[in-house]
Amino acid sequence: MTELQTTPLAPPLRDAQGRVMTYLRLSVTDRCNFRCAYCSPASWGGRKDLLTAEEFARIASVFARLGIRRVRLTGGEPLIRPDILDIAQRLAALPGVAHLAITSNASRLETLALPLREAGVSQLNLSLDTLETSTFRSISRQGDLDAVLRGIDAAAHMGFASLKLNVVVMRGVNDSEVPALVAYAHARGITPRFIELMPFGQGTPVPTAELLERLQEAGLSLTPEPEEPGTSDTAGPARYWRTDAGRVGFISPLTRNFCGGCNRVRVASNGDLRSCLGGRAQAPLHQLIRGGASDEELALAVRRALGDKPEGHRFTDAGNGATLLPMMGIGG
Ligand code: SAM
Ligand code: SF4
Repeated sequence: MTELQTTPLAPPLRDAQGRVMTYLRLSVTDRCNFRCAYCSPASWGGRKDLLTAEEFARIASVFARLGIRRVRLTGGEPLIRPDILDIAQRLAALPGVAHLAITSNASRLETLALPLREAGVSQLNLSLDTLETSTFRSISRQGDLDAVLRGIDAAAHMGFASLKLNVVVMRGVNDSEVPALVAYAHARGITPRFIELMPFGQGTPVPTAELLERLQEAGLSLTPEPEEPGTSDTAGPARYWRTDAGRVGFISPLTRNFCGGCNRVRVASNGDLRSCLGGRAQAPLHQLIRGGASDEELALAVRRALGDKPEGHRFTDAGNGATLLPMMGIGG
């Protein structure tokens, strides 16, 4: 195994707009055991050229040397990788990486919650759109709701520093369950977050303002929290409201553009760097590594790609949806 370098490579890492990048999202696989209609084409087979655990650690170490402080593993479903604990251990051990997080559909968490915690994962974002078996089946196409609920319960007892529940809201599908999902999450000490559906697949979005109204009508008293500064390494696209029982978050890519405070850079499961969720590949890091590139050469490729990072996504532009990769390929 190659020894990883740890000396800083002249951080901070800035993009073309001067925004400082502190947050790396690594898609460790583009495969998934679910086929959510808004995320994955029914026939998505996945790529074959996935990075190895060692290659992910090499890429993350270069980003850590460039000032990245927070890493999230996503996918596809990251927990279907047989070497996910190895990946988590290697990344949690990197100097400079203060937070290691995972986004998961929770289907394998019943057995993995404890080993992931022990491997150094501190934060989990878990996805659950419905508490109804038949709705779950029609959204995920092949998921098992009971396994997901057992996985969420296992995680809730494991002492993670942060646990969030991601809910993608679709009109006429799960929008009537929003108050029940808030109660479900708060009963387990989890922060629910409602996401406006982005145009990667099927379904009709529900604007955040409408959800806030519905929660108030359902009797929740909601007080807005002050926004975190965009450049902090804990800041994200969500806005939070406080209720008597806990926080409720909203991610509103359609009705409230969050790009101004963007601090994140993405690497797809094949090693392509993507500076923006709504953009195209900009640096083939995998090929560079396999070609023997040094850390300095990788850092230069990253800086060049970020020099092209757009000011914001263009999901709402007419026709742009057709040019996007399936969400599974980039990891949300
Ligand atoms: N499989 C994992 C999961 O479902 O949590 C991680 C990958 S998934 C692509 C990451 C997040 O993106 C999930 O919370 C999912 O609900 C969200 N997502 C997928 N497609 C979306 C879409 N079209 N609009 C908004 N959110 C989406
Ligand atoms: Fe899989 Fe997550 Fe996409 Fe659903 S949202 S298909 S669980 S990657």
